[in-house]
Formats: sequence, C-alpha cells, structure tokens
Amino acid sequence: LREAADAVVIGGGVVGCSIAYNLAKKGYGKVVVLERGFLASGATGRCGAGVRAQWGAKTNCRLAYSSIKMFSQMNEMLETKRDIEFKQGGYLLLAFTENQWRQFQANVTLQNSLGIPSRLLTPKEAREIVPFLNTEGLVGATYCHEDGHCNPFQVTLAYADAARRHGAKIRTYVEATGILTEGGRIRGVLTEEGEISTPITVVAAGGHSADLARMVGVELPIYSERHQILVTEQVEPVLGPMVMSFHHGLYCQQTPDGSFIMGIGDPNELKGYVTTSSWHFLEEMAGKITGLLPPVASLRVVRQWAGLYDISPDAHPILGQAPYVEGFYLACGFSGHGFMIAPMVSRLLAQAICDEEPEIPLESLGLARFGRGELLHEPSVV
Ligand SMILES: Cc1cc2nc3c(=O)[nH]c(=O)nc-3n(C[C@H](O)[C@H](O)[C@H](O)COP(=O)(O)OP(=O)(O)OC[C@H]3O[C@@H](n4cnc5c(N)ncnc54)[C@H](O)[C@@H]3O)c2cc1C
Repeated sequence: LREAADAVVIGGGVVGCSIAYNLAKKGYGKVVVLERGFLASGATGRCGAGVRAQWGAKTNCRLAYSSIKMFSQMNEMLETKRDIEFKQGGYLLLAFTENQWRQFQANVTLQNSLGIPSRLLTPKEAREIVPFLNTEGLVGATYCHEDGHCNPFQVTLAYADAARRHGAKIRTYVEATGILTEGGRIRGVLTEEGEISTPITVVAAGGHSADLARMVGVELPIYSERHQILVTEQVEPVLGPMVMSFHHGLYCQQTPDGSFIMGIGDPNELKGYVTTSSWHFLEEMAGKITGLLPPVASLRVVRQWAGLYDISPDAHPILGQAPYVEGFYLACGFSGHGFMIAPMVSRLLAQAICDEEPEIPLESLGLARFGRGELLHEPSVV
C-alpha cells in the first residue's frame, strides 16, 4: 500500500492527538496519526493527569497556565460533550525544608508576575484546605486554586474526535517502522502496511521517541524511566486539591468519582522500557502517604500500574524542527509533565509547522539548546 500525506504524526497519546487536531483545524491538508496500540495506551493513559501552573521555570509556568485555560474551556474548544473530569481543586505543594521554602517563595513571586494566582500558606492555612494533613515538620505550602486534574483518556479521545472531524486520519495498531529521508529532508514513513510519503513527520512517541529519531540519525538526549502509580476504592469526597510533596517525592489526588490516585518519583526506578509493577512501590507509597494523610490508611488499593517518563536533561520538553533534517519535528522529553502542557505545546507546534510565529517562542525549547549548552532549569519536579 502506498499513500501520500501532508503530515504524519507518530504517537497517539495526548500530544500526538492534540497536534493532529491543531494541524487539521488549520486546514493543513491530509494529516495522519500512527499509533501502534490504542489511543492513550502509552504514558498518557497511565498518568496522574495532574495540571498545575505552579512551576519554578518561566517557560513551564507559561505553557502550563495557558493550557489550564484551555482545559477549562475544552468542551467549547473541541466541540465535544465528553466529560474530561477537570476538577479545579487546586494543587497544595508542601515544603518540608528551609531550602524548599525559599524556592517556593521565589516560585510564587515568578508565578504571580505571570498572572498565576498562587499564594504562600502557613502550615495552619494548609490544614484549612486539607484538614487531615499531618503538618509535623511542614515549613510552609503554596496553593493555586486553578490547578487540578483531568481524565487523560477523555482528553485524548476528545482531541482525537475533533481531529477526525477536521479531516485527520487516525490509525491505531499501526506502527511506524522506519522514517525515510532524501537530501536532508523527510520523504516518508514506513509501516507494516506500506509507505506513506510525506514532507513532515512529527515524533510524539513518548518514551520511544529517541528510537524513532535515531532512524533519521538524530540523537536525542532523553531516556525513559518507569513511574508507578495506584488507585484506591471510591469514597465520599474529602480531598479537594492535589497534594504534592517534593520532599517525599509524591503526589495524591481524589478524582471526581471518589478514588484516590497517587504516585511516587523514586530516584532508583528502572530506566528503559519496563512497565511492570513492584511490591516495593506499594510499600513505599503506603508508608509515605499514610504518614502525610493518615486517614488514607483505611482505603483499599484497587490497582497499581506503571508508565514511562521521557526525561530530558533540563526537565523541559524538546519541541520544534530538528536541526539538519527538514520537516522532522519533535515533541518529546516531557519529563513527567507532558499531559498538563499538551494543549499549548500542540498549538505552538502546529503554528511552527504552518510557518506562523508561535505565540510562545520555541527556540529555547529546541534540540539545539543542548549543543549550545543553554539548558533551562526546573526546580519543581517529582
Ligand atoms: C505514572 C505517571 C504519572 C504521570 N503524571 C502526570 C501528571 O500528573 N501530569 C502530567 O502532566 N503528566 C504526567 N505524566 C507524564 C505524562 O503522562 C506524559 O508526559 C504525557 O502523557 C506524554 O504524552 P505523549 O503523547 O507525548 O506520550 P505517550 O502518551 O507515551 O504517547 C506516545 C504514543 O506513541 C506510541 N508509539 C511509540 N512508538 C511508536 C511507533 N513506532 N509507531 C506508532 N506509535 C508509537 C505509543 O504506543 C504511545 O501511545 C505522568 C506519567 C506517568 C508514567
């Protein structure tokens, strides 16, 4: 089978589907998405889907806050009736050391300067938001009421539906097995079903992006790492915000259906493509969360699972056209927070592909920054 497309997006997670939507909406000819599994079968469908504007780096703040505005209007924007379960219960970020507290103070100053309504809280004020929070050792906290979390499947499917409505073709269970170039330009993408000739290829393949980039001789400085997460039984609503502690490396939320979802960033997690679950995670998670939110101890765990973070050296994504290969675009390296910035990232990338000036300049996020030694810095990651 031989066919032609104007752009091929590799990866049917939230990033790939939202890029396809933005391109199709702009009328960018024939847009094809290739997904080797089902939509959102990668990191997207496995993620906590937390959405926060409270970052320590200006670019992450801007990408996330503009995305929050889009999540809050997603039904109108994508003309969908899907319930994306966007719960704006805020994020409560906890500081357990003086160093963290100083960093949080600087973060809030930066966030406020960008119009993000975050604020500093005393431990007592933090308890007013989460009355069963154990504040022993807590130095202070920050809170932004516009932060929250969504259902990642519904968001991805809403983007995919809208992309299809605007003419994009989404092929599930079709793997990209090769990328063809000619004279320094993209020429096509190979699949088990044949060749799709195209001048534009976007790699939005999450933890597998580096393998795809290697097919055209581009080395990406990113690696994959397992991250584990669990969900409990459903109980009545008791937890408003997403609670996050960088000190414990954990986050915990209660979804609108009453389940608690929580995960840990473990520095000793396996690198590579392993997505099995471990007892160690269950024990570590239970120990840490019951110390912080004691009543959680009475909840029964329903399921645990794992997904991949695609980690870049500076915890910022790699976005835009790769140097030396015309038509080869990257949207990867999301370092554990790609869900929450996907709405804005995909809009910017579509603008770049269409030769428009992106609303937020992409130069500082391009692959070339690593060669120039111009890494960004993000102090607030789990
Ligand atoms: C446990 C966990 C918790 C997280 N929590 C959060 C959070 O709270 N907030 C947040 O913002 N982010 C979170 N993240 C990160 C977030 O999930 C990712 O950054 C985001 O989903 C990336 O989306 P993506 O579309 O780039 O990648 P993915 O969702 O991984 O999609 C890539 C897709 O590409 C497909 N693919 C790969 N190779 C090929 C190929 N050769 N051909 C065709 N298809 C291919 C894969 O099957 C996959 O579906 C979390 C991640 C994990 C694992």
